[in-house]
Amino acid sequence: MTAPASAEPVPSRESLQSAMDRAAAVLAAASEVAFVCHVNPDPDAIGSMLGLAGALLGRGTQVVCSWANDPMERPDWLELIGDVAPIVEGSAFPAAPAVLVTLDAASIDRLGSLEDRVPRSGEVVVIDHHVTNPGFGTINVIDPRASSSAEVAYRLIRQMELPLTDGAAAALYAGIVTDTGRFQYGAATPETLRAAAELREHGFDHARLAQALYEDGSFAFLRVLGDALERVQLVQDAGAGLVWTYITQEDLARAGASMTETDDLIDVIRTAREADVACALKQQPDGLYKVSLRSRGATDVGAIATAHDGGGHLLAAGYTSTLDVPGTIDAIVAALRAAPRE
Ligand code: 5GP
Ligand code: MN
Repeated sequence: MTAPASAEPVPSRESLQSAMDRAAAVLAAASEVAFVCHVNPDPDAIGSMLGLAGALLGRGTQVVCSWANDPMERPDWLELIGDVAPIVEGSAFPAAPAVLVTLDAASIDRLGSLEDRVPRSGEVVVIDHHVTNPGFGTINVIDPRASSSAEVAYRLIRQMELPLTDGAAAALYAGIVTDTGRFQYGAATPETLRAAAELREHGFDHARLAQALYEDGSFAFLRVLGDALERVQLVQDAGAGLVWTYITQEDLARAGASMTETDDLIDVIRTAREADVACALKQQPDGLYKVSLRSRGATDVGAIATAHDGGGHLLAAGYTSTLDVPGTIDAIVAALRAAPRE
């Protein structure tokens, strides 16, 4: 596959190592570090943040973590891993931290209302694995080859020889296991598996964590899934095929389900072999549709998302659409017809 038109150049191993060295020096010298991950955080965002923050806390650094959702909903799996590092509401987050670390945020706007801390901080260490990340920090530790931001954070922890509590290890493990699709995707390298194996040496209940991450939906979500599957469509003449569906706020309200439960929808519809690209449209409380795109391997969906002011990876990307459902799908079909493919 050719490099996506949307992507930043992949950094050389040398420049990545030099960024790691500078990040390690800044973090080692800091007495206080503020951590922020992207809004609507997934386990990689929260896991990479708590893992690195917890490791620094263990050596006496003052840390504080946040993300910009208001109100902030803590995912249930966090209850299994205990208090790894302090998490505060965005309103209680330092106004101008000396050292700010961002995690898993592909662009500055993914920090939501906390993006204003970036220009106000002394050093901004960006830890990420999105190929579309432009590098908005003063130090950019961005490895598009890494499976997850948690894997990059773990590399930094190892390099700095920081202590790792069981809770911090579990947080990092949660990030790696979910961002690799349970070690399924191509980005799950031998290094990824070694990192996961080392983390698994720690004393956390791996089976319960997996259950909390993967088998902790509600009955209400099954009803929403039913609505979505009833409407699912296959467009065979759009690139290598498109399978798509949508859910509305009304579906969620009728079933009594919440939006945070709907992350698995795209993983169900992407199983159809007839389509290379899967797309789920999820209506947000403000009425706009959040678009999730996945490719089985033949389409650069990151380029499509970037063209719509979103981002992500080659095979998994997203954006917020300003159009209604038919308009959004028409735009995606047009992009797929125009896109180069293998
Ligand atoms: P998901 O479909 O699971 O929400 O997101 C898939 C991937 O696309 C994730 O890696 C996520 O970071 C990225 N992504 C999703 N929505 C956006 C967006 O609005 N902007 C950017 N820059 N990336 C997004
Ligand atoms: Mn990630």
